[in-house]
Amino acid sequence: MAYVIEGATGAWEVVIGLEVHAQVISRAKLFSGAATEFGAEPNSQVSFVDAGFPGMLPVLNRECVAQAVRTGLGLDAQINLVSRFDRKNYFYADLPAGYQISQYAHPVVGAGRIEIELADGTSKAIGVTRLHLEQDAGKSLHDQHPAKSMIDLNRAGVALMEIVSEPDLRSPEEAGAYLRKLRSILRYLGTCDGNMEEGSLRADVNVSVRRHGEPFRTRCEVKNVNSVRFVMHAIEAEATRQVAVWEAGGTVDQETRLYDPARGETRSMRSKEDAHDYRYFPDPDLLPLVLDEAWVAGLKSGLPELPDAKRARFMGEYGLPFYDAAVLVVEQATADFYEAVARGRDGKQAANWVMGDLFAALNRTGRGIADSPVSAAALGALLDLMADATINGRIAKEVFEAMVETGEAAEAIVTRKGLRQVTDTGAIDAAVAAVLAAHGDKLAEYRAGKDKLFGFFVGQVMKAMAGKGNPALVNEALKRAL
Ligand code: ADP
Ligand code: MG
Repeated sequence: MAYVIEGATGAWEVVIGLEVHAQVISRAKLFSGAATEFGAEPNSQVSFVDAGFPGMLPVLNRECVAQAVRTGLGLDAQINLVSRFDRKNYFYADLPAGYQISQYAHPVVGAGRIEIELADGTSKAIGVTRLHLEQDAGKSLHDQHPAKSMIDLNRAGVALMEIVSEPDLRSPEEAGAYLRKLRSILRYLGTCDGNMEEGSLRADVNVSVRRHGEPFRTRCEVKNVNSVRFVMHAIEAEATRQVAVWEAGGTVDQETRLYDPARGETRSMRSKEDAHDYRYFPDPDLLPLVLDEAWVAGLKSGLPELPDAKRARFMGEYGLPFYDAAVLVVEQATADFYEAVARGRDGKQAANWVMGDLFAALNRTGRGIADSPVSAAALGALLDLMADATINGRIAKEVFEAMVETGEAAEAIVTRKGLRQVTDTGAIDAAVAAVLAAHGDKLAEYRAGKDKLFGFFVGQVMKAMAGKGNPALVNEALKRAL
């Protein structure tokens, strides 16, 4: 269902385009050999280039270029064999050179696409306009001293990929799905860790509103939003604000705004600057970036299987519905875990256990799949005990909980607790007889036509057998006796 904002004068459609800054995974910075590790002592990872010392020359880091190209390939995008670095001039206290080196007119990656999945089961292709490489700035710290601001240049010069989407997104949900999908692809590729809390992934959110069928109206850009949830909230708040402005007879001015999560509103930061304000020009210290086709092809052949391809394969190979497959492929580690459980077993049953009992146990114990208290092999062994009828499904749940708690193997728990399924028909018949004898009143009602009581009898027999009866045999025995 289309997302609309109901104003006093009718419905408004929301138009969104995202500019995502993704920090490149690389040991060294884009134009210097300084380290990039997060959380280091301030100003301990700064070369003269990063500090903007006069006369220092930038040297392009080949690995950062490779990471950008891998990302472009992962987004099905055009790779531009010739691109160029420009200077984007502006003043920031934490930008010592007075300019940022960024690709402007000729980015390394051109048009691509990202397929997003929505809650109603549909999917939609979102256009990627471009991806370009640029340097990050340093960080100003205003909370370290009562009267002074401090500057940390560790981040100055770190490589960023700016990934710009087409204005194809139409709701907060779509924007959230886009960001999650992009993060998933970046992590698969190993080109960005996608950690929004540490700022390795930040989004500028462009929002406008219009009447259905109209051309686009003026947009505002909400800067540097650092979580998926906040992106979704910022869109809603900003779109609602713009609707009110238009409906009151005003006009929305193009500007840069900030989202305040505490108040749930955006506020103006500055009027929007135009490209010419930055006085872009080709950086005279750097040659054009020219890529070798064979080198790009080599990077392409080294790409891992990506989420969409894996999802399609999971559906075909393990018979999974779209939803299960989509959930299981979000993180590579989860997908690998699932496959280790599912291989050679019932794929749908394996998915139910991973997405149900295992995810619940991970949430409860606050652990990730990488340090799951139950390994894929151990969970597989539990499924095998069900498959060969050593235990029934209800007992399996109990065994799984014990596995989470003690780390023991399923087989050992079954033996120690005596949980083996009872298939001895003599024992089952005896339990049935005892239950029928104890519930003469219910038996009479059943025989008088109250069929629903069959379930009650199954429950009682199972209870009498401490849950260990073979469900099929219990059913049969009851039918005979009734
Ligand atoms: P700039 O570089 O000045 O921010 P761009 O033209 O590169 O401008 O666009 C930036 C982002 O704004 C893109 O993600 C684009 O999809 C989005 N965008 C452009 N026009 C609109 C609009 N009318 N409403 C919403 N988003 C828009
Ligand atoms: Mg912008």
